[in-house]
Amino acid sequence: MARIVQRIVQKYGGSSLGDIDRIKRVAERVKAARDAGDEVAVVVSAMAGVTDQLADWVREVAPLHDAREYDVVVATGEQVTSGLLALALQDLGVPARSWHGWQLPIHTDDEHGVARIREVRTEDIERRLAEGEVAVVAGFQGVGSGGRVTTLGRGGSDTSAVALAAALGADRCDIFTDVEGVFTADPRIVAQARKLDKITYEEMLEMASQGAKVLQTRAVEIAMKHQVRVQVLSSFADTPGTLLVDEDEIVEQELVSGIAYSRDEAKITLVGVPDRPGVAAAIFGPLADANVNVDMIVQNVSADGASTDLTFTVAKADLEPAIAALERVNRDLEFKALKSDSNVVKVSVIGVGMRSHAGVARQMFQALADKGINIQAISTSEIKISVLIAEDYVELALRALHSAYGLDSR
Ligand code: ADP
Ligand code: ASP
Ligand code: MG
Repeated sequence: MARIVQRIVQKYGGSSLGDIDRIKRVAERVKAARDAGDEVAVVVSAMAGVTDQLADWVREVAPLHDAREYDVVVATGEQVTSGLLALALQDLGVPARSWHGWQLPIHTDDEHGVARIREVRTEDIERRLAEGEVAVVAGFQGVGSGGRVTTLGRGGSDTSAVALAAALGADRCDIFTDVEGVFTADPRIVAQARKLDKITYEEMLEMASQGAKVLQTRAVEIAMKHQVRVQVLSSFADTPGTLLVDEDEIVEQELVSGIAYSRDEAKITLVGVPDRPGVAAAIFGPLADANVNVDMIVQNVSADGASTDLTFTVAKADLEPAIAALERVNRDLEFKALKSDSNVVKVSVIGVGMRSHAGVARQMFQALADKGINIQAISTSEIKISVLIAEDYVELALRALHSAYGLDSR
């Protein structure tokens, strides 16, 4: 019986394409999928470290740079690997060509540096896929409304891959990376972390948005919305990875599925803020106007009925603009002092099982207390609890929580 042709999108991350030998090995892997009779589109990242280098150069030339030119520069990393992989495939006798974002095109909005995909046009590559040609698509990049190059935010080639898979109606989107799948915690920090065979879209969304950079958050959102079958797996091993699934596909749900951390946090405390209606709006309104996203918020009760302290967190890169906006506000508001601290980390425990079980937060606070770790702020959602702690304790906290929830591999 003839085999049904599958349409597969494969994405290779920076370390999988880290040097010429690795690119050749990726070509072998792509060839194997195509030789099995499948239609294969590949999305590539830049070689490991290249995007960092490009971004550093931009900052060296112009600290307050034009985001449109930043995109022109940082998008080049993926252009190199798309061409090299197409060449490596051709060298193996596989018909292949590279595609840049503007060539498909992948249309995005005009938020340079953090653009969102609006539409992926696939007519051209679909025709060629049917003829057996492999499409090698440069990840991380698209084209804005004015025809200028845009990029999708760091880690964005995951999003390129999932969006392409959705547009192609692909049977699967395989995200090849340098670990064997999604683990209960970052395996580079928690040696006892276990690979998950499956994780729900919802949990993966929280893990990603709380800092687990194994998938970009936006990629998970698109996968969830369009029901793309995403698998995360290693490009260095031949073991099955982690599949993103709906909740009903997991038979025995753990209470906590994973623990994530984010170093991209900065804490601001306003001391002696007048305690009267309208103050929160007067503080957070101007921050929103300055495009600063506020995450965790703690407001103390006012001891004297007249003033209170307000603590909140922002992304590290937003600390300076946040302080500038607050200093402008202070002319009317008159808080007593502004303190800031960038040496903080947010640690989050995530699990859909939390919805129906009490006591998860208590366990978290106890495990941290047992290690003498002070909690500076707390925030929760239905399936997640996050705490802010001093950066020095992040590894200790992750390992302690991993054991406390019984996640350690045996
Ligand atoms: P790529 O270049 O392939 O996109 P990334 O470096 O962006 O790879 O993402 C893979 C990395 O994500 C891993 O090397 C790992 O250190 C990190 N990571 C963080 N949290 C997790 C987790 N829960 N499971 C697996 N990897 C994780
Ligand atoms: N090369 C880009 C980055 O380093 C995109 C990606 O790797 O997904 O952020
Ligand atoms: Mg990545």
